Amino acid sequence: MPDIGKHWCLLCKISFWPRNVGPESEASIMSLRPYRDIYRRTSRKVQVGNVAVGGDAPISVQSMTTTLTHDVPATVAQIHALEAAGADIVRVSCPDEASSLAMRQIVDQTTVPIIADIHFHYKRALEAADNGAACLRINPGNIGAESRVREVVQAARANGCSMRIGVNAGSLERDLLERYGEPCPEAMVESALNHARLLEDNNFEDFKISVKASDVFLSVAAYHGLADACDYPLHLGITEAGGLRGGTVKSAIGLGSLLWAGIGDTIRVSLSADPVEEIHAGFEILKSLGLRHRGVSIVSCPSCARQAFPVIKTVEALEQRLAHISTPVTLSIMGCVVNGPGEARETDIGVTGGGKGNHLVYLRGVADHKINDEGFVDHVVKLVEAKVAELEAGKQLDDRAAAVVSAE
Ligand code: SF4
Repeated sequence: MPDIGKHWCLLCKISFWPRNVGPESEASIMSLRPYRDIYRRTSRKVQVGNVAVGGDAPISVQSMTTTLTHDVPATVAQIHALEAAGADIVRVSCPDEASSLAMRQIVDQTTVPIIADIHFHYKRALEAADNGAACLRINPGNIGAESRVREVVQAARANGCSMRIGVNAGSLERDLLERYGEPCPEAMVESALNHARLLEDNNFEDFKISVKASDVFLSVAAYHGLADACDYPLHLGITEAGGLRGGTVKSAIGLGSLLWAGIGDTIRVSLSADPVEEIHAGFEILKSLGLRHRGVSIVSCPSCARQAFPVIKTVEALEQRLAHISTPVTLSIMGCVVNGPGEARETDIGVTGGGKGNHLVYLRGVADHKINDEGFVDHVVKLVEAKVAELEAGKQLDDRAAAVVSAE
């Protein structure tokens, strides 16, 4: 497959991905802060139910349930928790027939698209596709005869399912391991392209690909190789990354590096923790790179002897009280005037600690009024909720105006 979409700078002798949104020349002229620009790799778009992955679609955040899939109430409850946290897509394992048949009830009781995770049993893929799965995670090279691949493709096509090829460094094909000696980026890319060819041979191209490893270097190099080798959308993940803290840091380094390089269309942070934490971590990674915004982004200082109010406790309380908000809002909570006014200028709402319990509140970057310690958190929560109401009302007006324009 050709190296589609990459540009080559004759001056700097480096290759780079063109910007995905708007013509590149326009982007460079209009960009106020070019050091923040990320040039997304050009990928084709596939659908996972009603969620587009690839092309100019927002980078989606997904997770996976940890319940027994055939325990429908438990699985549905976990999917609802993931939906509430902002998950765009949720994957469930289908290790047995009871699980793939449970897909129907699960899909009927949830709103996010559900991906069925299949390993070697192609019949589970057929059952999951017939029972409402929006996507099948399956490696066609693992399911045996060509006729089985054909059947799976037919079931996917008949049910409007896309697929994900998921190569994992820990389960590479024996012939590749013998040839390359150990799991390496080249072997992972070759494995992914071999699986892809089996689908292409059946005229099926509605799939995305992942090449995951628990080793950040290996995974990142494999994704770079794959991004150069094809234009399929890429599902990013550092597999078996570890527990909440270590796994989040590891994923942020791996996924952050790839996303910054413009690679990646959907992400899953893989943690040995409550899957809701995977969604939180995924959004924080995207928010840090300005690739997606959701909920309240808090800029806060670590605090020190200069703090005029207890910053750490205040931020903990605000994080809890504002967790229900999905509208993007920025909030700065700074302990004193050293850096407070500067941060407040860049956020929707800012508070800077002042002497004698007089803390200065900034709205839209401008000093507005003072508050004291009493009712501090309640006051900030009210300000944020008012800002959200204002933004939502503006959005509704914009939507109505757009509807009128498109009707004319
Ligand atoms: S903003 Fe003030 S309180 Fe916060 S860390 Fe900096 S100097 Fe300390």
